[in-house]
Amino acid sequence: MARYEDLGVRRIINATARLTRLGGSLMSEPVLAAMREAAGSYVDMHALQAAVGQRLATLTRNEAAYVCTGASTGLFLATLACMTGGDLQVIAGLPHRRPSRHEVIVHRAHRIPYLPAVELAGATLVEIGNVNQTLAGELETAMSEQTAAVLYIAGEHLSRGALPLSEVVRLAHARGLPVIVDGAAQLPPVENLWRYTRDLGADLAVFSGGKDLRGPQSSGFVVGRPDLIAACAANGAPHQRLGRPMKVGKEEMMGLLTAVELYIVQDHAARLAGFEATVQFWCDRLGALPGVTAERAFPNEAGQPTPRLHLRFDPARAGLTGEQVRQALWEGEPGIVVTPAGPDGIFITPDTIDPGEEQIIADRLTAVLQAASTPAVAP
Ligand SMILES: *Cc1c(COP(=O)(O)O)cnc(C)c1O
Repeated sequence: MARYEDLGVRRIINATARLTRLGGSLMSEPVLAAMREAAGSYVDMHALQAAVGQRLATLTRNEAAYVCTGASTGLFLATLACMTGGDLQVIAGLPHRRPSRHEVIVHRAHRIPYLPAVELAGATLVEIGNVNQTLAGELETAMSEQTAAVLYIAGEHLSRGALPLSEVVRLAHARGLPVIVDGAAQLPPVENLWRYTRDLGADLAVFSGGKDLRGPQSSGFVVGRPDLIAACAANGAPHQRLGRPMKVGKEEMMGLLTAVELYIVQDHAARLAGFEATVQFWCDRLGALPGVTAERAFPNEAGQPTPRLHLRFDPARAGLTGEQVRQALWEGEPGIVVTPAGPDGIFITPDTIDPGEEQIIADRLTAVLQAASTPAVAP
């Protein structure tokens, strides 16, 4: 970390989520080695994109795949693919001549902060339903000659007010319209790599490379229908078209491919058992502190089947509120980032930390709480 230190930027332990503002995720040695090797020679980027896409498609049990710089770019290119259909005449008219199909339908229950990527492509968002409920008729009424696609944000935590994906696919396909699924953070389970497209019939699905896959932070990919994947490519780099500002490098392509290969063959059950053991270790150690309640929480914030630790503090006995504990963890060296859980608690995740950091976190929390609960003046 000498270079970070040299710049006066401190190292952080990420015990919250794979957030871009914290550096996303950490790459494994084989991923770094693949990137280093890729950096060593020139290559035909069209040929590399096609070959990596083919291999990714096979690995993820899809027909086709395309590597891009993050899931946000995946949303941008998937939108352009559906708006243009890959028609070079239409693409050449962008951004001045708006394609006739330029509307993307989205549930109000799915209004996430990444939707500007769709608007950046020139699409207009057409919202259906409300946060509590969406009717099939609302989707049917919204679909028109201007519709390019229906966008569906996957995840248990967003499903409450939305139609089921299978029904959205059925209704959209009845009108000949494609469905794009944003599955950016929906790994694990690994099966989601093929569930949305192959099992549930969506036309395209978008994933982040820099989250649980632990590929390069600036990588992501789109899987699905070969004609629409070709249309993503037609709008992207190395062409000098709208996707050019988001070009993906050969290093990211090879790093991402390696990360997906490793992810597919990983023993996911053993990994989950490791997370459970970490949460149990934290519960045993931290639950014994005065004024602290420690519990396993499940699923995590994005609805994924991963446990995390929920700590609640009784300020009268622990000496600190949840918010004060969170602040103390952040201010220590290295800074530890955890998730707020209301005013009196915090969540701590086992899946974002490196081996050994569970101990550092437990020690730091113990020290912070012991300092706070020790009376300042002994009688
Ligand atoms: C993280 C995320 C994105 C953006 O992914 P990047 O790979 O960081 O571009 C988009 N949609 C959802 C639901 C996400 O969680």
